[in-house]
Amino acid sequence: MICNNLGINEKGHLTFAGHDTVDLAEKYQTPAYIMDENKIREKCRIYKKAMSEFFGGNSMPLFASKSLCFKRIYEIMKEEEMGIDVVSPGELYTAVKAGFPMERAYFHGNNKTDFDIAFAIENGIGYFVCDNVEELDAIDREAGNKGIKQKIILRLTPGIDPHTHAKISTGNVDSKFGAAIETGQAKELVELALSKKNIALMGYHCHIGSQIFEYDPFCDAAVIMIKFIADMKTELGFEASVLNLGGGMGVKYVESDPEIDYAKNIEGIADLVKSECAKLGVTMPTILMEPGRSIVADAGLTLYTAGTRKEIKGFKNYVSIDGGMPDNPRYALYQSAYTVMVANKANEEADYECTIAGRCCESGDLIQEGVKIPKPERGDTIAVLTTGAYNFAMSSNYNAICKPPVIMLDGEKDYVAVKRESFDDLIARQV
Ligand SMILES: *Cc1c(COP(=O)(O)O)cnc(C)c1O
Repeated sequence: MICNNLGINEKGHLTFAGHDTVDLAEKYQTPAYIMDENKIREKCRIYKKAMSEFFGGNSMPLFASKSLCFKRIYEIMKEEEMGIDVVSPGELYTAVKAGFPMERAYFHGNNKTDFDIAFAIENGIGYFVCDNVEELDAIDREAGNKGIKQKIILRLTPGIDPHTHAKISTGNVDSKFGAAIETGQAKELVELALSKKNIALMGYHCHIGSQIFEYDPFCDAAVIMIKFIADMKTELGFEASVLNLGGGMGVKYVESDPEIDYAKNIEGIADLVKSECAKLGVTMPTILMEPGRSIVADAGLTLYTAGTRKEIKGFKNYVSIDGGMPDNPRYALYQSAYTVMVANKANEEADYECTIAGRCCESGDLIQEGVKIPKPERGDTIAVLTTGAYNFAMSSNYNAICKPPVIMLDGEKDYVAVKRESFDDLIARQV
């Protein structure tokens, strides 16, 4: 099993966080997102503990809530004393409604509107992760209107391509996000930020990518960022007190993916950060990280019901499910790998090769191709594992399909965190 919250019970059914998934499918109907609350909390604590142990001070993980956004998640993040990052006024609103303390919230995005900025300031946003010159002007103006000095950090691109990270200083300059260090635009942004009356520049941010398994790219990025802190200290007399290293640590989706020891990665990055700071004579900044996927991905799975089985003789087999790209667009978008199981046949031999297809009128509506599972019959429960991140958050109403509910498992308990969408919900805004 790819995660320790999965198991098989005496009935041969897949279990998740100790619950029989076939019973859950019956109780809540399918498709349904199922979340293991204690796994989410466990992951938060791994990051919190490792970051405070190895980085010390006020260092803190911020949950990247674009990976999973609903009120209950923000309540859990509040209880776990995490920070959050938000990327839109909608995420911010959801967090506010959940009572999340906004001083621990960081507002991201490459194109925040004047409305977004004013709305965030009204709601007491802790920090903006400021992306560009226009935004700097707008934040300064809105903060001035409100009579406050707004804390920000600047989003910079260190020029790391996490997949070919040996070739530092290439790749990532071509990004819609942030200001590049190597072109000099990062320094210009720092100078401008320092000149703004209503802005308090606290430090810098970088995010090098997602689903990264090695930790060297994070180290490479940290080295470049600390060098930049040192350079700005020398050149402009400004020493950053906050350094946000972004998110992106990988998650095991299939057996062939490596298992990641997050605490060990953090320890390794921390050792390097400390020695670089000492070497360059800068004070160790408060370190922030922004894990999304690695907090919630394996805390989730999706349950479906198998429908049609189409066998194209001598070619391939399709198994269709009662969901698809509206609840999980990731295979259609990026051919993401997932592990698929027949939940009520978890002990049976996985010798039937097939493509798992969604129900949309769209040939590309696939969940996974060429998986091997026990031959499913109409009515069997299909489980797609590791769907806690970027599934609910990316779901759509394509083909006017109602979004599935989010069911939380907490020890013996199970409860609804997000209700299933109804047909009336679908037409609620239509006049
Ligand atoms: C997407 C994103 C994250 C989270 O990435 P994960 O791979 O889910 O950990 C963090 N920070 C920023 C700026 C992002 O865009």
